[in-house]
Amino acid sequence: MSPKQAPQLGVDPYFPTHGDTRYRVHRYELALDYKPGPNRLGGSARLTAVAGGEPLREFTLDLNDFRIGRVLVDGRAAHYTHRGGKLRIRPAKALAAGAAFTVEVHYSGNPKPVRSPWGGVGWEELTDGALVASQPIGAPSWYPCNDRPADKASYQIAITTPSPYSVLVGGRLLTRTTRGSTTTWVYEQAAPTSSYLVCVSIGQYELLRLGGPDTGEVPQQAHAPARLVPQATHDFGRQGAMMRLFEELFGPYPFDGYTVVVADEELDVPVEAQGVATFGTNHVDGARGSERLIAHELAHQWFGNSVTVADWRHIWLNEGFAKYAEWIWSERSGGRPAAHHAAVAHSLLAGLPQDLRLADPGRDRMFDDRLYERGGLAVHALRCALGDESFFRMVKDWTTLNRHGVVGTAGFTAHVRRYPSRRPVDGVLEAWLHETLLPPPPIPG
Ligand SMILES: [Zn+2]
Repeated sequence: MSPKQAPQLGVDPYFPTHGDTRYRVHRYELALDYKPGPNRLGGSARLTAVAGGEPLREFTLDLNDFRIGRVLVDGRAAHYTHRGGKLRIRPAKALAAGAAFTVEVHYSGNPKPVRSPWGGVGWEELTDGALVASQPIGAPSWYPCNDRPADKASYQIAITTPSPYSVLVGGRLLTRTTRGSTTTWVYEQAAPTSSYLVCVSIGQYELLRLGGPDTGEVPQQAHAPARLVPQATHDFGRQGAMMRLFEELFGPYPFDGYTVVVADEELDVPVEAQGVATFGTNHVDGARGSERLIAHELAHQWFGNSVTVADWRHIWLNEGFAKYAEWIWSERSGGRPAAHHAAVAHSLLAGLPQDLRLADPGRDRMFDDRLYERGGLAVHALRCALGDESFFRMVKDWTTLNRHGVVGTAGFTAHVRRYPSRRPVDGVLEAWLHETLLPPPPIPG
């Protein structure tokens, strides 16, 4: 994508109070202590950031209700206020336009989810441990951040917790040091990462070996409660083959490794994070009953985590492709072809209200089931219009050109138009992405 077509990186229209567009964060260094019993989290966050085009007299970070110990900008105490989830910081001296600066926030308290139209998101205390599932606005439930998907940064995350617990975070485990009854886990996530994709799982988990000749080059590990190890080992047994297929279709896996956590709790849906997916106990049955979800979450590593939406209006670019990856996995692993799944989705949608616009569904409908189904169908409609050869080249180029980048629908449609097609794609893009009426079922060209 040329810079001219780069999406506008402004305030997110769905969550205008989250994030601050006046600066960018390059790196977060979190050093936190967590006590599972009392659900107590405390420590420090050190951010390295750069001011935008204007001098910064003040700026904001998103952070839930915590007790703030002190706030330093470039090592000097800064004035701040903290209310309504916003930490408003006034440095002792205004920051020049384009200046690099550091912010250090010391804080502690009882983390709890951020309220959202979909219930609480973010830090969640479990019966024995905790997990973080932040999409879309839960990150401030546990650390101070510039909470907008377009502001990607690298992360170092150090968490100290009682030794029986595992701390699982995306990225590379640098060190694990036990002192007395606690262990400190230090992870490095070098790839640019959106705040909503930073996750933590703390619990008493066993490590599964996902072996076999299909595993390929990408390190993959899975963690589950001890009693679910046999079932989970079977259920995730084909993930290595899935990884190889998706690398063939979408390009090299974008991160250091892939970690799957089966949290010791039922979850409505599994959730993706950077290099990690978290499933619930209800997604493990020893019969691969949720294998399509395993494919869905893995596909998000390309669609959403590496290639990230500039703002949440474009969420169909995450969910449409993750849904379509379920259908492709089915097709390529001996199951029903994608065309079958597309036909089922189409008849399902035909019986539901047709008032959802894929390219900008509105905040309250960003997780509507219809967005997922119609998103998968839109991708299938493009496959039918372009033909397989052109379609799969278009998809692989999309993930390659935008690797670790930020995208929007306009950039995607411009990208699609560059590829040879059997039928004109303009009408297909318009009907599936911008109109609400359900187009006829896509037919291969
Ligand atoms: Zn998804």
